[in-house]
Amino acid sequence: MPVSKIWKLKVPPKVKTYMWLVIKERLQTRNIMRRKGMDVSPVCVLCSSDDESVAHLYLQCSFVRELADYKLKEWGISTWHVSLLALLDHLEKEES
Ligand SMILES: [Zn+2]
Repeated sequence: MPVSKIWKLKVPPKVKTYMWLVIKERLQTRNIMRRKGMDVSPVCVLCSSDDESVAHLYLQCSFVRELADYKLKEWGISTWHVSLLALLDHLEKEES
């Protein structure tokens, strides 16, 4: 699914904006803040087990995974290791 289709999804604008920020790697995760010279700890504030990045939040963070697992099960997606684009595809199919 092309990223531009995000804007056509029937979800609240803040969700669309968030998805776009994630896909474009513009979410202000700690690795990006540090790259910009900000003096912040690199460690994920949610799980404290690894450095915070978009990849960490969506593939590895145990806190985010626990939070999201119930929704993925509801959608019939058995593993957390799916890309956001796969989730967007699912949302698009749900709408049609
Ligand atoms: Zn984490």
